Amino acid sequence: MQLCEHILNMTLYIQGAVMAERMYKFSWDFIGNLEEGRPNLGNSTRVEVYRLFQYALRDILEEEFDAEKADNLLYKAGYVAGKALAEKFVGKVDSLDDFVKKVQQVLLDLNVGILRVESADMDKMHFLLTVAEDLDCSGLPDMGHAVCTYDEGFISGVFQSFSGKNYNVKEIDCWCTGDRTCRFEVKQA
Ligand SMILES: [Zn+2]
Repeated sequence: MQLCEHILNMTLYIQGAVMAERMYKFSWDFIGNLEEGRPNLGNSTRVEVYRLFQYALRDILEEEFDAEKADNLLYKAGYVAGKALAEKFVGKVDSLDDFVKKVQQVLLDLNVGILRVESADMDKMHFLLTVAEDLDCSGLPDMGHAVCTYDEGFISGVFQSFSGKNYNVKEIDCWCTGDRTCRFEVKQA
């Protein structure tokens, strides 16, 4: 009995220590009360500000680690964001059709991009999506490689929220590969 109690106390202590180390685990508190906080400026900013933030952070992540690790971290951040956004703005839906319609509308309402489903194989849970006028890349120079790593994670998180399953998402066309729309391959992991 004493040993059990000791183990329980140790577990609580370790959990407490781990939790104490997390200062910025994502919650909607970090979005805050915008009506109260920005009564004059409101909840909009410009795409330049969003991209400035993303690509400045990416610059530093690549410098501190390397391009692969930076991509990996951006993907993970996108996943957290996509899952949180879907849970808050899409919620529970019964069918894939309803899910897609709701996500399309949310991404339009938030000026993220214009989502279309190009193909859907429900047996294999394998999808091809396009996002036009994508927030992360549309209008950037042709770089010969796709850049929307954050979006890959984001889409993975959105699909996870809908189905409870994990998905691997890979961007196969991007504004930065010379295509005029981003195209994502979504496969159940
Ligand atoms: Zn792209």
